[in-house]
Amino acid sequence: MDKKKQNARLRYTFATYMGANGLRCTPEREHTLNVILGFRGRFSAAELLDACSGDESMRVSRATVFNTLPLLEKAGIIRRMAHDRRVTYEVVRQSMQLKARQHLVCTDCGKVQRLQAPLLSVWVGHQSYRDFVPQPDSAVLYVDGLCNKCRRKTRIK
Ligand SMILES: [Zn+2]
Repeated sequence: MDKKKQNARLRYTFATYMGANGLRCTPEREHTLNVILGFRGRFSAAELLDACSGDESMRVSRATVFNTLPLLEKAGIIRRMAHDRRVTYEVVRQSMQLKARQHLVCTDCGKVQRLQAPLLSVWVGHQSYRDFVPQPDSAVLYVDGLCNKCRRKTRIK
């Protein structure tokens, strides 16, 4: 997957995470994420702050930068690393990211609709599976019910 598509997916994951948690995905937070997606490799909070304030197109406060970082971490978009009393972050790219899908299955006609499930990926990422699956690569959630067509049919009967 190319980087542009990957970045679009990461933005979508962030927006979904924020929405699911009743938080606003403000232009300042989106801008912070865009700056992060432009970094090559690891970055520190100070470097992020520099890059954000160096951009004339949008003013992002220090507070916004600092409170967006933990949100991005919880959404599974960046990973925080501490070494030698220095804290850095890196973007969790697709190759490291869990493939999470949801399959909607109609219990009557058996039709299946496959969708991505960014929040499932975040959830699995926060679980501890110890030695059994120390690094999960994929997860599927099955959602059973009647599809629109079959529900309409049962109503007519
Ligand atoms: Zn059906």
